[in-house]
Amino acid sequence: MAINHLFEEKPPYGVTEQVSPLVRRVLAENPSIFTYHGTGTFIIGPPEGGTVAIIDPGPKEDSHIEALLKAVDGQKVSHLLITHTHPDHSPAAAAIKEATGASTFGFGSHPELSIKAYEARVAKAIEEGKEPEPEDGEGAGDQDFVPDVLVFDGEEIVGDGFTFEVLHTPGHISNHLCFSLNEETTLFSGDHVMGWSTTVIPAPDGNLNDYLKNMRRLTSRAENIYRPTHGPPIENPVPYVEALIAHRENRSQQILNELAKKPAPIMSIVKEIYKDVNKELHKPAAASVYAHLLALKEEGRVTAENSEDFESPWQLI
Ligand SMILES: [Zn+2]
Repeated sequence: MAINHLFEEKPPYGVTEQVSPLVRRVLAENPSIFTYHGTGTFIIGPPEGGTVAIIDPGPKEDSHIEALLKAVDGQKVSHLLITHTHPDHSPAAAAIKEATGASTFGFGSHPELSIKAYEARVAKAIEEGKEPEPEDGEGAGDQDFVPDVLVFDGEEIVGDGFTFEVLHTPGHISNHLCFSLNEETTLFSGDHVMGWSTTVIPAPDGNLNDYLKNMRRLTSRAENIYRPTHGPPIENPVPYVEALIAHRENRSQQILNELAKKPAPIMSIVKEIYKDVNKELHKPAAASVYAHLLALKEEGRVTAENSEDFESPWQLI
């Protein structure tokens, strides 16, 4: 199933772009294979004066923090909304909070399962005498972040001139939130839905069934534009979301078809279903297949003797 990904020219770093009447974006200079051109921090509120909210202050980079503070000069910052605790999203919140007195809003601290998975990767790399591989691109996560205000699914965040509905959207990470801006029928989709790439599901904290559930609920919502933290806006988002769902469902079916032939460990499944794909991509593909297998296991469709052991063969139930 083809997904029509969306790309954009690299916007200038540290420059404030007015992207809609109530929304500005400042791009951080942290481009990578996981962040596209970098983290897009959004400022919601009037272009000058008045009160604003900031979504995903971004990485702890002095130049980005300075650019954000310059952008909101002469304005009151009332809310710092955090989609999740990966290092390209939340770490700059501390400095912005200190400079502006704004409160931080989030679902919770960095999840325990992500910390454990990271520590296991580091331990394995040390044992093998290698550098730890950032399989999900997220390293250790932002373990320092603690939201001032805990928010939950369905809650409203009301500011002076803007109102957000909070959506809890676990999948990429269990503490992921999206924020729907009522005044512009816009969803700030964080890493849950991105135009330029599919979302990484680093299992086991990343959960494909949660991800799909929270993708399906988007298809009946009213937002007509999404603004992800990375990459361009997504206009007419529902067909795009449906294509992303179909892509994952297809992948699960391919895995089930492979296991119907014979029980197989993850790498054998990868070699079959990614045989037309460059071998260098087989490792990240394995992480994705693992997320699918855990999701199918949760549904009682597949099993493995030891689902934490990458070598263990999987089979249909
Ligand atoms: Zn992320």
